[in-house]
Amino acid sequence: MQNLEEEADGEPVETPACPACGGEGLPLGILGRLAWFRCRDCGTEFSLTQS
Ligand SMILES: [Zn+2]
Repeated sequence: MQNLEEEADGEPVETPACPACGGEGLPLGILGRLAWFRCRDCGTEFSLTQS
């Protein structure tokens, strides 16, 4: 099996890295232009601006 290319670097992905620990962010939902996530590892909630 070949490795398929995943999301390009710098592109928003469904599971962004937690700003606190670098863990996997689980999507909570969209509020306005903000996409909210909660870290699977440390529980930190953070948001990303939707473009
Ligand atoms: Zn975290």
